[in-house]
Amino acid sequence: MRQDPSIAEKFQDLHPPFAPQAARVEADRCLNCFDAPCTAACPTHIDVPRFIGKIARDNLRGSALTILDANVLGESCSRACPVEVLCEGACVFHRCNQQPIQIARLQRFAMDAFHASGGTLPRRSAVERAEKIACIGAGPASLACAAELRQRGFQATIFERRPLPGGLNTYGVAEYKLPARASVEEIELIRKLGVEFRHGVEIATEADVAALEREFDALFLGVGLGPAHRLGIPGDDHRDVIDALEFIAQYKTDTPPQVAESVAVIGAGNTAIDAANAARRLGAANVAILYRRTQRQMPAFSFEYEHAKQEGVRFLWRVMPVRIHADEGGIRSLECVQVQIGEGGALSPVPGSTFHFDCGQIICAIGQSPLLQLLSAVRGVELRHGRVAVDRPTGRTANPKYYAGGDCVNGGREVVDAVADGKRSGIAIAEHLERAAQGAGSPEAVHA
Ligand SMILES: Cc1cc2nc3c(=O)[nH]c(=O)nc-3n(C[C@H](O)[C@H](O)[C@H](O)COP(=O)(O)OP(=O)(O)OC[C@H]3O[C@@H](n4cnc5c(N)ncnc54)[C@H](O)[C@@H]3O)c2cc1C
Ligand code: SF4
Repeated sequence: MRQDPSIAEKFQDLHPPFAPQAARVEADRCLNCFDAPCTAACPTHIDVPRFIGKIARDNLRGSALTILDANVLGESCSRACPVEVLCEGACVFHRCNQQPIQIARLQRFAMDAFHASGGTLPRRSAVERAEKIACIGAGPASLACAAELRQRGFQATIFERRPLPGGLNTYGVAEYKLPARASVEEIELIRKLGVEFRHGVEIATEADVAALEREFDALFLGVGLGPAHRLGIPGDDHRDVIDALEFIAQYKTDTPPQVAESVAVIGAGNTAIDAANAARRLGAANVAILYRRTQRQMPAFSFEYEHAKQEGVRFLWRVMPVRIHADEGGIRSLECVQVQIGEGGALSPVPGSTFHFDCGQIICAIGQSPLLQLLSAVRGVELRHGRVAVDRPTGRTANPKYYAGGDCVNGGREVVDAVADGKRSGIAIAEHLERAAQGAGSPEAVHA
């Protein structure tokens, strides 16, 4: 990874770690609810009262193992989870208007201690099995699937087109939440467990897929989503019209991109907010998010919106870009119209409302497209609205050799959802292969 040294300083921790004494005080506040709503609200169902109780009793290793038992990416989730709408949002302290327990910071406290002490992931079974599983993509979904299988003794191999593992944990999640370095270090736990990583390998054609099918007993698709949608307006092929995902990936793992004095970010999801905040921290004086609907219709979480305003990002509502104006010196302005929202959400331009937003750079964050090239190369896997259709409890696709999870199935949610999917599929694949081996008199199982 070639991250510029200035990035760590510009993107300091949004939620700094607890000092030991503060962690113990916070852990002591937990009521240890019997029917813990925080555990139910966590997509990976970490036993929250149990791991917090272990912190209170100074058993940090035990605490981390409780977290890892449910969620192998406990470190990155503790930093990236939108806890306001997950575990902490469900904390019973809300009912009496008190501060919820800071679950994510406690989780990070236990996980940081585990990593610092050189902890390793435990195996669930000592039996070494012969069956091989390929996971395509090295994002949270595949990592969780491969780790679960390896812990149960199966041979798991991850194929990743990028040079670093972690998917959007490494290349997408804002650096002030989850530094790329922390993401890659966490994955060392999975590598040490014995999962094989093959980097720089893109599985793209029917021939690639056929070769994997010959070599592996089951396959997991954890490929995420494709590139950001284009704006589709005159001038959008200019070199200073940038895909938000590429912009973020570049500052996180390479030399930081040059930013203009004034930057327009199109879209109002969490990716748009991350890109706008990054443009500010990289030095842009004037950054505005332009969205064609209203604040209430904005897909970003409200706490992300508040955070962006604190970073100095401005918001322009009911604005639609129509043309990019540039000369040999670069982009000069983005021509926009004000829109009105009619019956059924239909947008129409307000007559005479044209205006120019002066900017030297435009960042597009208007959603990602599905990876149709790969998905259409896999025979028998069905797509529904561009997403892989699966049996939810197992992640099994219409082709019984294939399982899938994460963004390519849910259309783009959170890291913790991808981890939950990957783990569920890992368990389902293991159970399926164990049943198949038992049916065949278990000729393949070899014991360590
Ligand atoms: C900018 C941004 C910020 C985000 N911030 C947050 C956040 O703060 N908190 C949060 O919880 N979630 C966040 N998310 C969402 C979260 O990152 C995703 O939900 C999660 O990473 C999905 O995991 P995944 O494994 O399904 O896919 P990904 O993380 O996308 O991983 C897929 C991997 O597959 C690889 N791949 C794809 N096709 C192939 C192929 N044909 N051959 C080989 N490899 C392939 C890709 O290179 C990639 O590494 C964010 C998303 C974005 C875009
Ligand atoms: S993984 Fe995320 S949602 Fe689950 S308990 Fe931890 S911080 Fe909360």
